[in-house]
Amino acid sequence: MDRASGCGPEGCRFESYWAHMNLSTSVEKLPHVGPAYQKRLKKLGIKTVRDILFHFPHRYEDFSNMVPIAKAKLGQPLSIQGKILEIKNIRTFRKRMTLTQAIVGDKSGAIKVIWFNQPYLINTLKKGDSLFLAGKITSKASSRYLSSPAYEKIPDNVESLDLTHTGRLIPVYPETEGLSSRWLRFIVKPLLTKLKKGIPDSLPEKLREKRKLLPLEKAIWQIHFPDSLKSAGEAKERFVFEELLNLSLVVLRERMKLAKEKAIAIPLNLSLTKKFTNSLAFKLTDDQKKATWQILKDLEKPRPMNRLLEGDVGSGKTVVATIAALNVAKAGFQVAFMAPTEILTKQHFKTVGKLLKKFNLSIGLITSKESQLKNKKIPRKQLLENIKKGEVNILIGTHALVQEKVKFGKLALVIIDEQHRFGVEQRAHLCQQKNLIPHLLSMTATPIPRTLSLTIYGDLDLSLIKELPKGRRKIITKVIPPENRNKAYSFIREQVKKGGQVFVVCPRIEPSKISQENFAVARVDEGIKQIAASWIEVKAVKEEYEKLSKKIFPDLKVGMLHGKMKNEEKEKIMKDFKSGKTNVLVSTSVIEVGIDIPNATVMMIEGADKFGLAQLHQFRGRVGRGKEQSFCFLFTQVRQSQAQSRDETIVSSTTEFPARLVEEDKSSSSPFASTRVTNQRLRAITVCENGFELAEKDLQIRGPGDFSGQRQWGIPDFAMNSLKDISLVEETRQAAKEILEEDPELKKYPLLRERLKEFRERIHLE
Ligand code: ADP
Ligand code: MG
Repeated sequence: MDRASGCGPEGCRFESYWAHMNLSTSVEKLPHVGPAYQKRLKKLGIKTVRDILFHFPHRYEDFSNMVPIAKAKLGQPLSIQGKILEIKNIRTFRKRMTLTQAIVGDKSGAIKVIWFNQPYLINTLKKGDSLFLAGKITSKASSRYLSSPAYEKIPDNVESLDLTHTGRLIPVYPETEGLSSRWLRFIVKPLLTKLKKGIPDSLPEKLREKRKLLPLEKAIWQIHFPDSLKSAGEAKERFVFEELLNLSLVVLRERMKLAKEKAIAIPLNLSLTKKFTNSLAFKLTDDQKKATWQILKDLEKPRPMNRLLEGDVGSGKTVVATIAALNVAKAGFQVAFMAPTEILTKQHFKTVGKLLKKFNLSIGLITSKESQLKNKKIPRKQLLENIKKGEVNILIGTHALVQEKVKFGKLALVIIDEQHRFGVEQRAHLCQQKNLIPHLLSMTATPIPRTLSLTIYGDLDLSLIKELPKGRRKIITKVIPPENRNKAYSFIREQVKKGGQVFVVCPRIEPSKISQENFAVARVDEGIKQIAASWIEVKAVKEEYEKLSKKIFPDLKVGMLHGKMKNEEKEKIMKDFKSGKTNVLVSTSVIEVGIDIPNATVMMIEGADKFGLAQLHQFRGRVGRGKEQSFCFLFTQVRQSQAQSRDETIVSSTTEFPARLVEEDKSSSSPFASTRVTNQRLRAITVCENGFELAEKDLQIRGPGDFSGQRQWGIPDFAMNSLKDISLVEETRQAAKEILEEDPELKKYPLLRERLKEFRERIHLE
């Protein structure tokens, strides 16, 4: 019986299933998908027929070389067609294994075939069966055999044969426990053949023809069961284009939707703004001025601003945000200013309070423990009441708190630190007034590569602060190979003696790298892997802490911080560090950005090669806030003697660095000037101070999946990778614009509109 279609001598058991099948049919309704498989599929996020069909192979195995047995060459992927002459199971007692051993012959000759530990094969494969086999010939102790080949039986009386597992390019799907590629092929193939209503193509035909993209039916066949690698490539090209197009469409439509909403227009108060800038102890940089101007101009419009202010740590975003807040407050409206953590919230409260001291505003603070108004503690209830009445001009609080409980009477602007997006509904939820959406200014120190700002962040307007305030000293950045570790430690001790403080960041552990020995349950699934990774990180922090506090710096005060600590504990440890009670702080990579510790002059990063450039740059930004020269030391496991060959492989596997990135830093005054930089990638960061350049570099080297930690957008891997390709990204965005200009509501493209709805649910841009 042909298991795949359910058709056999007794007729087609499953014909009735297929008649009603369409793309949204749930996988439970499919033949051969029992509860166990449903569960495994669910783990991959596969719930419907569409999900299965869009679960693409990540590579192909080429078994299209069909040869007579006598001509089968050793070690090459090939397929043979023959008849089973004999077959039996053999127990090997030494290795405790069952071998299924067969002799298969054709007109030209015969060959031994061995399968390992699949004793049940004997029930399927019988003497006299005709079949195809695909695999490689192995040779051992002068005996040649086909080792664990894929097989495909040839049913009696077939006219034409369409091979699935042998004799062609075979799709190999991303590995998942209990879901083999063979099983997926066995499910996908009949779906492709039997879907009665076909697979409607939502890509506009005009566009498809113009771009010479494959139609969907063909593309989906070719991506699963390609005729050649070339057509597999063409299929992939189509899906990548479509995914990027849909992404652009969603993002651009979101933008159009927001433009229709109403917001409070805040007139630009020039004299007030001048008065503020004159009160500062410094002059704004040109980039700060430009960003301020863009924001104030946006605020004048009666539609909600949706702007992202991007600038390195220390570039002075807070001042810019404060000017916006001042304009809104003095116009008689309210501002919500949110930060990700308690510590940062209080830091902002202090800074903004100082900056606006002369302006007679009522500024409130709300955290899980405190509520203050005008620097005085007040009961939370009363603060909330005042906010409701519109009497608090600026409320500074943590993300969570402000969202949960607070209702503003006259909210016009939301400022949010270290978060990229803040949804329209969330914003509306903060307001008492109906039908008004507050303006949004979000701030981030994560530089966003250009392709991402066109796609993922395309609904946001960007203001960039690229230059740091004048007079900032460059942070001296050095790669420290193991042989110079002790030298670095003595240098760090000197720094502490001079009053400096030290951050130590422990290596990041990637969930995908967790082995079973490392963590017994790590193999279960992604969620648990993440949890396991964070626990292993905790272990790494504890070990590093032990080592530094007992062996390396027994004379110094060493503190420890990790994500598994209670909030109060974390707060206390940060406080002790901030006040100088501890000299050295060992932490995981999760320590918050934006914390101001002016005395911190050394950032020491263990396992620096495990981090992305953009992330290293962020860590580095935590020092260099004070007047003293600051240092960033990148510790690696790579010895200088190994460095040469490593360098070469890294260079050849990536695109070239801009010339100024690879020049050696000659201005260095550190004691390690002679240390040869061991790794080309790390070398980039020792000479480049520009976060934007590093972010572009990171995208090219590591791909967008790694951009800014482990953020997931729900975009499939094949398309994620294409987010590196600026010209493709620009083309798809242009195509999306053209479609929307011609037909903003997509009335002519109902299929596309429907697709986008599903797409919107799948991706989560935050
Ligand atoms: P960010 O939030 O972008 O990391 P901050 O706004 O906290 O940076 O600014 C870092 C420090 O730089 C603050 O102490 C701030 O007062 C100072 N600063 C901001 N702008 C300037 C400037 N134009 N010139 C000199 N110092 C500045
Ligand atoms: Mg900041």
